Amino acid sequence: MPTVIDLDGVVWLDAEPLPGSADAVAALRSAGHDVWFVTNSSYFTVAEQEDRLRRCGVDAAGRVLTSALAVAGLLHLEECVLVCGGPGLREAVQLAGAHEVTLDGSLAAGQVDTVVVGFTRTFDFDLLTAASTAVHAGARLIGSNIDATHPTPAGLIPGGGALLAAVSTAAGVAPVVAGKPEPAMIDLIRSRVANSDDAGGVVIGDRLDTDGALAEALGWDFVLVRTGVGVDAPPGVRAAADLAEAARVLLG
Ligand SMILES: [Mg+2]
Repeated sequence: MPTVIDLDGVVWLDAEPLPGSADAVAALRSAGHDVWFVTNSSYFTVAEQEDRLRRCGVDAAGRVLTSALAVAGLLHLEECVLVCGGPGLREAVQLAGAHEVTLDGSLAAGQVDTVVVGFTRTFDFDLLTAASTAVHAGARLIGSNIDATHPTPAGLIPGGGALLAAVSTAAGVAPVVAGKPEPAMIDLIRSRVANSDDAGGVVIGDRLDTDGALAEALGWDFVLVRTGVGVDAPPGVRAAADLAEAARVLLG
């Protein structure tokens, strides 16, 4: 059965692995689950996410889908892209055969075709100005994800969705969003995960508005874990304390 596991707040909190995650993935795989890792984080490259999983004891080679990959599916060949984000979004620009334009004095706002926004810790007023000015001048605005917060061991910090909201507000334009639960990510999952059109499938995640909504869009089951943003499960939603318990719930 195709099984999509979220990363942030499910497998780890920032750089800190959550206990029991690797064993849970191994148990699901032993029982025949086709495990994929689907993250709304666009900060890391796919190889970096695979490395992070390997360090947690999970072999995920070729099994990681990021919102940056979903962004790549929305970019056009040879277009000029201003990136407000991390290495993952830069990789997406390359994968799409587009060109990243950088903030220097020679850049005219009208030369930017698309602004892409994801999580970065180096977001500042100059970048917000450049991004919103480019959109005012006609550039498309694409966000990798709407996640308002990012769970860390020290608590919640602003997520890529918070930065996207700043650009969107300043630009006066609603963004096209690529990550869970939007069509670009659903298309990516349908194109990469075998048997994803069949009835059975499950999403395990810590957010209702992204992971739960993804499960609903795919027509799959959903298990909410409480190790991330810590939302309560509404009536009818299956919940587990963590990924280890989610695996036990699924494996009966
Ligand atoms: Mg999460």
